[in-house]
Amino acid sequence: MPQPRQDVSCADKYSTRAKKPEEPDKDLRPFAQKARDWVRHHVYFVLVGLNAYFIYAFCYSIVWGRISKKHKGAAIAILCIYGTLNFMMYVYWLAILLWGPGGIGSQYASNSIDGDAAFQCNMQGYSIYCSYCKHLKPNRTHHSAFTDTCVPAMDHFCPWVGYLIGQGNIKFFLQFCWSTGFTLVFVIIVLLIYQHNQIPNINNNAIVLYILSGLAILFAGSLASQHFIYVVMGHTTLELMSAKRGDSQYVNFLWRDGHRRVMQLNRMDIFVYDQSPFSQGIWNNIREIMGPFYTWPLPIREPIYEPQFNKAFIEKLRERQDKIEEQALNELKDDCDISG
Ligand SMILES: [Zn+2]
Repeated sequence: MPQPRQDVSCADKYSTRAKKPEEPDKDLRPFAQKARDWVRHHVYFVLVGLNAYFIYAFCYSIVWGRISKKHKGAAIAILCIYGTLNFMMYVYWLAILLWGPGGIGSQYASNSIDGDAAFQCNMQGYSIYCSYCKHLKPNRTHHSAFTDTCVPAMDHFCPWVGYLIGQGNIKFFLQFCWSTGFTLVFVIIVLLIYQHNQIPNINNNAIVLYILSGLAILFAGSLASQHFIYVVMGHTTLELMSAKRGDSQYVNFLWRDGHRRVMQLNRMDIFVYDQSPFSQGIWNNIREIMGPFYTWPLPIREPIYEPQFNKAFIEKLRERQDKIEEQALNELKDDCDISG
């Protein structure tokens, strides 16, 4: 019979994490660290400042101040397109903040895995317990000090939007990066067309806009591409970093004899440029985060689920366990032969 997942009270004694204090501790961090953390959590001021400069330099100075003098209709169309793209960027940013990275609510917690499923565990094979939130951690869940909750598929803290990215808002983060990239590409296209007849009288604002747009496209484009690949392959930034560090991870799974075994994962189980152990296939991975194709541009969140190990990965663990059991059996036979 498969062993059930351990209940909260029993798992508590296996937890090595510190208990959540009843009274908040005094902040004892050095001043330099406090200042660094403050800056890290407020980098979005730079983004808002840059956006204000783009509105002044591009919309007001170039499009309205120059292009509209000769081509009023084109200038209005450019402002409408830029305004829409810029507005959507703020809609996605707001969605990141309002929806948040997700938490382990009652709906999520009740979506428990069945008796046959594999789950992440500690060295002894018990489910991992969060001493801060006082509950078991479903697969791929990490506790965040920033939100003070357990976050499903926690990805990273983004200083540019000033918030934590997890399963609940990774879609909006991608939308935010893409809309930013599209806005900047549009700016460059308009500038190129406009500048075509203006050389050598190039506007100073245009030079600054070229440089800022180029750099930002490289940054936002690489960020969006990198995280979209992670979504496609079923990875998170945090899991890849953890695997790169060589952190120990264990999986409790059902072996062929109907009993459970605990297997330590090696680095290459996760840190590979292939699909993750939780990947359910490329299209399923995309759909779970982005939703149906027609909702990709919309700030609608897909339901949060408890990720399951894919069947191929569990089979890989079972084959590895086969070899371990076979080796143990052979050693036992050798011992019997020697003693006999
Ligand atoms: Zn927690």
